[in-house]
Amino acid sequence: RSVIMVSKEARKRLENIGVLVVVGSGKGGVGKSTVSVNLAVALAKQGASVGLLDGDAYGPSIPLMLGVRKRTESKGWSAALPLADLKTQQRKIQPLTRYGVKIISVGFFIGEEQAVAPMPDALGLLMRQLLFSVDWGELDYLVIDLPPGTSEPQDTFCRELVVDGAVLVTTPQDIARIDTAKALAMFQRAHVPVLGVVHNMGSVLCPHCGELFEVFPRSTEQRNALDSIPILGDIPLDPGVVSMSDQGYPVVVSMPESVAARVFSEMAQKV
Ligand code: ADP
Repeated sequence: RSVIMVSKEARKRLENIGVLVVVGSGKGGVGKSTVSVNLAVALAKQGASVGLLDGDAYGPSIPLMLGVRKRTESKGWSAALPLADLKTQQRKIQPLTRYGVKIISVGFFIGEEQAVAPMPDALGLLMRQLLFSVDWGELDYLVIDLPPGTSEPQDTFCRELVVDGAVLVTTPQDIARIDTAKALAMFQRAHVPVLGVVHNMGSVLCPHCGELFEVFPRSTEQRNALDSIPILGDIPLDPGVVSMSDQGYPVVVSMPESVAARVFSEMAQKV
């Protein structure tokens, strides 16, 4: 089977999805899931029908960030469904809906404290199976939160799906930027259009004077491939992002007037 044939076949199975956007990063902890969640909710607030797939099998944080932790909230698959059984599942899985976004996460299938460690090679297949097993209905956008790095399931998604756009997320440190440039190279190699990069936590909003100041020293790198792609937004480090997001309220919902929320809303207009 040629790669192109697989792409067409896979895309046909997703033909009710308008725009497929993946969010990736080189490193964990840079705010990728925060960006995925807020982008999806901001798109829904603008009237689009939106799905969100949490593709981070090692650290699925989207259920927590959107307050949809309980599997029992959805009919049809309230009993724990081992991921391996997805293939034999006859009925499609109903996603959970929060803030107008249809959400599915590996986290729904495993206990919160349970460590899940599928073999990296199996991750691509696993995530693809999950993607196709969900009853998404008609969607304007499907946002996929990828795990950090450049291995699986990123590779499978890039090769087998027609991804309309990739959003990269990085913090300003050299170490994060260098790894994110590798993720950029992966998307470019796979001919996935890169929409741009989100700079997260580069500055902090002073709670006393309200001014933004830079957290990290300026990059010492001469040149990084990320310099050549558009900047989709600069999100300041904002303690409110963590406290509200840990309670299931993304910042675009809980603090719509904040700088972070405004940047996310502007970003939603660009994708
Ligand atoms: P990743 O998906 O890249 O691992 P997360 O989105 O899970 O990163 O973010 C890691 C942690 O940093 C979370 O606790 C999140 O709430 C916090 N965080 C992300 N972006 C910001 C920000 N702009 N300000 C404050 N905290 C943030």
